Amino acid sequence: MYQFNYLRPKSLDEARKLFESNGDAKFIAGGQTLIPTLKQRLAQPTALIDLGAIGGLAGIKVAGGAVVIGAGAKHNDVATSADVLKAIPALAHLASHIGDPAVRHLGTLGGSIANNDPAADYPAAVLGLGAEIKTTSRTIKADDFFTGMFETALEDGEIITEITFPVPEKAAYMKFPNPASRYAMVGVFVAKTKGGVRVAVTGAASSVFRERTMEAALAKSFTPDAVANIKVAAGNLNSDLHGTAEYRAHLVTVMAKRAVAAAH
Ligand SMILES: Cc1cc2nc3c(=O)[nH]c(=O)nc-3n(C[C@H](O)[C@H](O)[C@H](O)COP(=O)(O)OP(=O)(O)OC[C@H]3O[C@@H](n4cnc5c(N)ncnc54)[C@H](O)[C@@H]3O)c2cc1C
Repeated sequence: MYQFNYLRPKSLDEARKLFESNGDAKFIAGGQTLIPTLKQRLAQPTALIDLGAIGGLAGIKVAGGAVVIGAGAKHNDVATSADVLKAIPALAHLASHIGDPAVRHLGTLGGSIANNDPAADYPAAVLGLGAEIKTTSRTIKADDFFTGMFETALEDGEIITEITFPVPEKAAYMKFPNPASRYAMVGVFVAKTKGGVRVAVTGAASSVFRERTMEAALAKSFTPDAVANIKVAAGNLNSDLHGTAEYRAHLVTVMAKRAVAAAH
């Protein structure tokens, strides 16, 4: 690792000011991605601004037909929250299958979606449920948030504060985990909401995406059979040592079918 300053602000305002006055600074939450990145010398920030001491960033509440989760909520908090388990069990289930216990007790919702790893689980729930991401300066719709591999709509110095997940009528998440890391080889989040059916796929491509053909089929008939014969084009999917694009395309259909069955 290179040398850097470690700063621990007590408020969002202080965090933003420190960001502006510290050259190439980076925010750190659970450190589950950032610390390995620094260890491998893939980033060289001049300062790490720890968001962990900022009050009010990690709460979970149910309000106005939605579950509102603070960006600093740990994966384990979401997995075990009675409110989340009751209102959106699919979201608690997803959180309970991220990584291993150490990762779940340190990693945060905000860190996961800010990072937008192509194989991360939370982006599928955020996009699949049509969530809204509140930051220090605005509210961003899920459809506008994930812009590419490890890229989001966040501006420099913008901090995610909370995510609002509308409670769906039915939802489920199914992933085929990489056996080593537990990241998604392919994960599919299916939600039947008041506004229609949403299907979000992670792990398969450079960034999470909506599977519109499946959404249309499930809008007509929300059954596993409705997606069972939909073949996803492999053209734009990831191909690596873990699996070919064709394999991932096949997994999208299998996971979608299982997710719809689980949603029932
Ligand atoms: C062994 C291992 C296995 C894992 N397995 C999985 C898995 O199966 N599924 C999965 O989804 N993930 C997995 N992860 C990732 C983990 O879930 C973390 O959530 C993720 O790495 C980032 O969260 P973090 O809080 O640790 O963020 P950090 O590492 O602290 O930060 C990541 C990035 O987000 C930015 N950031 C953090 N918080 C905010 C905020 N509030 N506003 C704006 N920017 C912010 C930081 O500046 C940094 O750029 C795994 C990680 C490890 C180490």
